[in-house]
Amino acid sequence: LFISLEGIDGCGKTSVKEGLLQYFSKFPVLSIREPGGTLISEKIREILLDEKNQEITARTEAFLYAAARSQLVEELIRPALLQGKIVLADRYLDSTIAYQGYGRGLDLGFLTTLNQLCTSGLKPHLTLLLDIDPAEGQRRKKKDIPDRLEKEGIEFQSRVREGYLKIARQESERIKLLDAGKDFKEVLQEAIEYIEDIWPA
Ligand code: C5P
Ligand code: MG
Repeated sequence: LFISLEGIDGCGKTSVKEGLLQYFSKFPVLSIREPGGTLISEKIREILLDEKNQEITARTEAFLYAAARSQLVEELIRPALLQGKIVLADRYLDSTIAYQGYGRGLDLGFLTTLNQLCTSGLKPHLTLLLDIDPAEGQRRKKKDIPDRLEKEGIEFQSRVREGYLKIARQESERIKLLDAGKDFKEVLQEAIEYIEDIWPA
């Protein structure tokens, strides 16, 4: 079982993942976050999140996310799935379409090809999209540093959010929408219900 969590900054992915880890506590789970997870991917993460690297172009950024994901898929995700583990991913391929595509304006066809290449077509069984108003996300994220959100602002986050919602409409079988503005317990409960629909524990 492969589940990914998606959403704009401050949507609460990390908290929901913590809750799901408890839910799956009796099972072998691989919990990962993007970009990162492997030695190489964590090094790429440092480049991507380093505020000094302001001159990075959108395309370079897309390639770096893809490189980090490529390593993660080959080194950890595929082997874990083959061993029958549950994989919980904080971000995966939809982030590329939402952020680098809808957020930064890169060509969606190019990004779809890039995603296909770096995952060799491996998609999650279920993607939980935590949808939240960007202003609320910003309030929640305030304590998190470093963060590009302050500089990017609400407009960027709004484009990313709309992008996510479009992807969710296109792939409604895989991607389930959760209202992340609700109380955390409710959000977690809804997430679990979607999991039980496809994976009766
Ligand atoms: O929310 P999370 O901690 O997972 O994201 C880390 C940062 O990377 C966020 O500021 C997010 O905006 C950014 N990001 C991005 N493009 C991606 C994935 C994340 O710009 N494909
Ligand atoms: Mg997070």
